[in-house]
Amino acid sequence: MKTIKKNLFLTGLILVAVLVFSSCGSSTTKEKPATSTEVAKVQYTCPMHAEVISDKPGDCPKCGMPLVEKK
Ligand SMILES: [Zn+2]
Repeated sequence: MKTIKKNLFLTGLILVAVLVFSSCGSSTTKEKPATSTEVAKVQYTCPMHAEVISDKPGDCPKCGMPLVEKK
């Protein structure tokens, strides 16, 4: 009885190890998750100067106002 339980336990450990190993291997091939592309779509613009567009928050180079998220 005890040996059977031990074998099941070992089999479970191996299964978990294989799953963790395979998931790690797939995650390394996909370096960028889907969420990073959504963040990159966000653009920031000056409320006073529509021509000023930046992909990250900051200040307008023309008037120094903080850039707002463009929707
Ligand atoms: Zn401006």
